[in-house]
Amino acid sequence: MKTIRLRPGKERSLLRRHPWIFESAIARGGADAGETVRVESDAGEFLAWAAFSPTSKIRARVWSFDQAQRIDASFFIATVSASIRARARFDINSDAFRLVHGESDGLPGLIVDRYGDTLVAQFLSSGAERWKAVLVDALLAATGLSLLYERSDASSRALEGLPEVTGWLRGAGPVGAPVPPVELVLREHDWRLALNIATGHKTGFYLDQRDSRRKFADDTRRLGFERVLNCFCYTGGFTVAALTGGAGHVTSIDSSGPALAQAAANVALNGFDAQRASFLDADVNASLRQFDREGQRFDAIVLDPPKFAPTVAHAERAARAYKDINRLAFKLLAPDGVLFTYSCSGGISADLFHKIVASAGSDAGVDGFITERLGGAPDHPMTLNFPEGEYLKGLVVMRR
Ligand code: SAH
Repeated sequence: MKTIRLRPGKERSLLRRHPWIFESAIARGGADAGETVRVESDAGEFLAWAAFSPTSKIRARVWSFDQAQRIDASFFIATVSASIRARARFDINSDAFRLVHGESDGLPGLIVDRYGDTLVAQFLSSGAERWKAVLVDALLAATGLSLLYERSDASSRALEGLPEVTGWLRGAGPVGAPVPPVELVLREHDWRLALNIATGHKTGFYLDQRDSRRKFADDTRRLGFERVLNCFCYTGGFTVAALTGGAGHVTSIDSSGPALAQAAANVALNGFDAQRASFLDADVNASLRQFDREGQRFDAIVLDPPKFAPTVAHAERAARAYKDINRLAFKLLAPDGVLFTYSCSGGISADLFHKIVASAGSDAGVDGFITERLGGAPDHPMTLNFPEGEYLKGLVVMRR
């Protein structure tokens, strides 16, 4: 068994059970990609078993803090089962949800989403890559399913020195046999949404916003939003939620043509009149400025942009980008209008996001009641030991 020895004092975060070991914390030792290493303090005391990542700044990720634990197939079978069992205790009103959320489920680098009978997985660390076959068997055994599609095409794979890979890992059958569908339909709350697990973003859909979409449908019903603007609409989740809540008309903006086509199809799939929805293939920032020039106003606006700040290093530039779109959105709010604004950047804390939105409102000359602070759906859990798990935050701001 290979060992990595930490520099003096660098054991502290591990003693608090934080699962990352940065390159700068290591005094000596190394291993092959994904190999299990014993991590010890400067004094030689056992700290954890971890998977080594030779090229990443996060040089090792912890599998277990228990010295007696063997890191073998039965460890992964037990950890995968525990992750899936936890979902039975979460409040999830959908047939599509996250089964494994990386570090928060004790499986760093592994993301697994379930869409009906199909699993879609991302292997994002050297450790997860090395144990791929074992993890896939464990996932199918624990769920009783047979279809698993791989979407290891996230850019973070490059940091681990891993190539991008996609395709069926299980269930495609022999050459010539019918290929399982990659176009699926999920059901969440009161609506259905079609997606493509091969070409969609991430694993195909943004499951983490499930409960915000329900909240948006409920508020649309309760407050009677007539004119709704859904910015960064992707495949129209918030659009369908608003129409379900009775919105008169929803304008949806995205810069991805395929996402917009899927969004329009999703409006039809739920039986809504196409007249109630319009779709704009455009840059959100430019569209918001144009709407302001035209004097358009909206009763509710959703702002759910992509990750502007993957890490704190990008926070400053991202903060300006967030502030800009929020300021423009505030200007478009009708009297009594409501803004649903989000950041999914790990590098922007909830506190900083609050400050950004506050200063955007102030610049727009708008005050508002913050009626709700929102986070990711419970199947994207954050844990006490891994604060980085809190990436998605949202604010509901009602114009005063
Ligand atoms: N709210 C969506 C998820 C949004 S993901 C849901 O509930 O499913 C972010 C989206 O922003 C992506 O669809 C991406 O295509 C889009 N996007 C990124 N940059 C953009 C820009 N400058 N203007 C418009 N859309 C953009």
